[in-house]
Amino acid sequence: MVSLTFLGAAGTVTGSRYLVEAHDRRYLVDAGLFQGAKELRLRNWADFPVPPSSLAAVILTHAHVDHAGYLPRLVRDGFPGPVHVTPPTGQLLRAVLPDAAHLQEEEARFANKVGSSKHTPALPLFTVKDAQAALASLAPVPFGQRFTLAPGIEFRYHRQGHILGAAAVEMRVKAAGGEYLTIYFSGDVGRFAAPILRPPEPFPGATFLVVESTYGDRFHDPGDPAEQLGELVREAAGHRGVIVIPAFAIDRTQEVLYFLRELIEDGAVAPLPIYLDSPLAREATAAYRACALEHDAEMRALVREGVDPIAPAGLTVVGRVEESKRLNEIDGPAIIISASGMATGGRVLHHLRHRLPDPANTVVFVGYQAAGTRGRRILDGEKEVKIFGEMVPVRAQVRSISSLSAHADADELTIWASGAEWPPATTFVTHGEPAASQALAARLAERFGWKCVVPALGERVEL
Ligand SMILES: [Zn+2]
Repeated sequence: MVSLTFLGAAGTVTGSRYLVEAHDRRYLVDAGLFQGAKELRLRNWADFPVPPSSLAAVILTHAHVDHAGYLPRLVRDGFPGPVHVTPPTGQLLRAVLPDAAHLQEEEARFANKVGSSKHTPALPLFTVKDAQAALASLAPVPFGQRFTLAPGIEFRYHRQGHILGAAAVEMRVKAAGGEYLTIYFSGDVGRFAAPILRPPEPFPGATFLVVESTYGDRFHDPGDPAEQLGELVREAAGHRGVIVIPAFAIDRTQEVLYFLRELIEDGAVAPLPIYLDSPLAREATAAYRACALEHDAEMRALVREGVDPIAPAGLTVVGRVEESKRLNEIDGPAIIISASGMATGGRVLHHLRHRLPDPANTVVFVGYQAAGTRGRRILDGEKEVKIFGEMVPVRAQVRSISSLSAHADADELTIWASGAEWPPATTFVTHGEPAASQALAARLAERFGWKCVVPALGERVEL
């Protein structure tokens, strides 16, 4: 009568898609894009396992592309809506989905230009028009409010930190015998000590738990990220060069702005010009500022004092491409924060091309650099990297801050799970590389005596 099928984020960290079938209705929790290796990306092109038109609703946990980026394709292939989101997630998606569509269109154009696709013409997975159509079906549901999807089927959002608007989804379904069972989808679990956003709500208990395991086998550097950032900025400013910070547009950028404001106010860093150069980061920063309900106590106190906590002294928010290009003319010390975080695309590429050859400059990575990305190659010490088809020598200083992350590590996931008032009948460990998922499953089983399962892609379980 009630079943759960793992259509993504099984054996990998991307493509979150969980199909819940109950009372002859179908619901999809998350509609994520597969990302990374080509064999994963190809899955985005496969027919969806059930007709999209047969879905009664989609419920999204948050605005990251690996959780929400498949939505435009799903809508274009016949899903009529609604798409439930928290209000801040809806706000972020208005910038995220058109941006993702734009990238798809650009990639297709590029493939057609160089003839790198087997298909002629190469087509985008979805277009900006598809993204706009998907946005039209958003139906926001506030945190904590019970929402009835159909008689005997309801859900509720719980705050999860991670990024603005991120939620866990607690579904409640009337089962045989009239009793209710609950399925709790963790979404991505954030960190308890992160600034700006309210911390994750601990897992309260459920009949079934689906939990992410991105860092299921790893532990974050215990260092203070603000202190590490301050040290690097002081060192780099000493060379009088320009500091380029490739940053994820959502959350990491706002955290870096928050820490820079603090460091300058405390006198730990001398004021210097700071440029925020990413259209998506600009939109996301505005959303972070506007969503006052999501701010943690410290952030609220600062706002009450009239401080803008994510606007350090000396900040310039860069708009048009021409303004971005003019940044090439500035001399240091100065900081340029620009996406994408792994230097795989975005305006940061222009800055890297211009700044990497000069040893007075510094590149500071503030997040995980996946294997195969340009960011990883720079961090690994390669002497030159290809940008826009030309080899650029890497003579700038290269640094990284490893304590910044939007994901709970193995310890934090355990703390999050320890709130449960009763053990789940089964815990499904997903959204991790196989070793990470296995490690978290073993950890939860050992710590709490829970029955943990690492489901395979496409696996269907009766609840
Ligand atoms: Zn996420």
